Amino acid sequence: MKICLNDTVFDNLGRVADTENIETYVIGGWVRDCILGREHADKDIDIVVVGSGISLAKKAAKSFGKGIKVSQFKNFGTAMFRYGDYEIEFVGARKESYSRNSRKPVVEDGTLEDDQKRRDFTINALAIGLNKKNFGKLLDPFGGLQDIEDKIIRTPLDPDQTFSDDPLRMMRAIRFANQLNFSIAPDTFDSIRANAERISIVSPERIITELNKIMLCKQPSKGLNLLDKSGLLKIILPEIDKLKGVETIEGKAHKDNFHHSLKVLDNICRKTDNLWLRWAALLHDIAKPVTKKFLPETGWSFHGHEFIGSKMIPVIFRKLRLPLNDKMKYVQKMVELHLRPIVLSQEIVTDSAVRRLLFEAGDDIDDLMILCEADITSKNEARKKKHLDNFQLVRQKLREIEEKDALRNFQPPVDGEEIIKTFGLKPGREVGIIKNAIREAIIEGIIPNEHEAARKLMIEKGKELGLSPVS
Ligand code: ATP
Repeated sequence: MKICLNDTVFDNLGRVADTENIETYVIGGWVRDCILGREHADKDIDIVVVGSGISLAKKAAKSFGKGIKVSQFKNFGTAMFRYGDYEIEFVGARKESYSRNSRKPVVEDGTLEDDQKRRDFTINALAIGLNKKNFGKLLDPFGGLQDIEDKIIRTPLDPDQTFSDDPLRMMRAIRFANQLNFSIAPDTFDSIRANAERISIVSPERIITELNKIMLCKQPSKGLNLLDKSGLLKIILPEIDKLKGVETIEGKAHKDNFHHSLKVLDNICRKTDNLWLRWAALLHDIAKPVTKKFLPETGWSFHGHEFIGSKMIPVIFRKLRLPLNDKMKYVQKMVELHLRPIVLSQEIVTDSAVRRLLFEAGDDIDDLMILCEADITSKNEARKKKHLDNFQLVRQKLREIEEKDALRNFQPPVDGEEIIKTFGLKPGREVGIIKNAIREAIIEGIIPNEHEAARKLMIEKGKELGLSPVS
């Protein structure tokens, strides 16, 4: 396995380890990804030593060059430093034993094999020696190499023990299966099913890290389906779980919104790496279950699901520990507007409707169009083509209006300050009324998006409010 060590960083680490006479190995993701021939997502190198990880980290940093800062995490017995593009983390080999009621293990010093046993999966437990006597030698006590060949995720120990020790590993199993396109060994998966409830003792912060990694996979539906089949989905994403199922009344059935949402998500993943657009795709129909009605004349209706859905986003984001900032607002906006381009695709559409959408979506209009196109999941090719052609027309209309009116990043041609100055006002209700009137007149096409016309309207509106210019 010398091939995995063909960077001088490993020679250097080996040299320091021999000088200090400490057994040292590279372990985990680096080894796995090297054998897979996969570009390691980040340049993390995990080093395990039989002895003190912190002490070797300090010695290595010193020998690698001046001024390399070692960060120590004494509570965990780990230390790390950056070297070039690499982030090298050192840990002393340890033996962990857990009690059922706590995630906090009792930790003792251990052998390499003790340390490999506490790893989550056989493919992550592979280690390669760095000392001269075993430089490049693979240490694989649990058949990880074979599992990589067979594309299998399997725990090194009895899966019930591995998952009970740290239930986050259940999500990691699914995340790795999704990322690497592996399957989960049947006994490992049965154990996830049996232990799914235990995920509730894991912090939401750790869960969302794994969930986001699933969302960033090439085809996240695979991970989400596994979360569903394992019973984890209804615990961590109950709102998504509720999208499942088809109801039929008077011979009319609605579509299964769970499968539809996953399809939209996979569709969008072919177009974008933007995590937040991916979340918007997964959540776009999130309010369908709560808005669902059967109307005898017209059949199933989900009236207003886009508005209710956008209101549900902050609640879901807060619970999942997703950010509550502009990323969340972006997802809200996508959910709220996701039906609007469909309306615009109908033949008779006024310029003002197009302007209004441009105005509301702003710079996110292109992402919204990507979402709408991904939302077409019809299996009927002719229908699909018709919808896609219609969206091409919408894009065309958007372009035309955009060229004419430059509304994408709408800055009012007359701003609040000018209104205040003109009428000698204090900031207040009147300023808002006049600003609104100008904006509406531009969107409705009553005046062009230009200063002179907007100023004229400002004076008129001011008059209606009993105001007159101060000079
Ligand atoms: P990626 O970089 O894609 O997340 P990785 O395998 O490097 O993959 P890390 O989370 O950085 O993932 O973990 C590094 C190594 O630490 C793993 O390969 C595994 O051996 C071990 N590990 C990480 N988390 C756990 C866990 N919860 N339980 C057991 N072992 C773990």
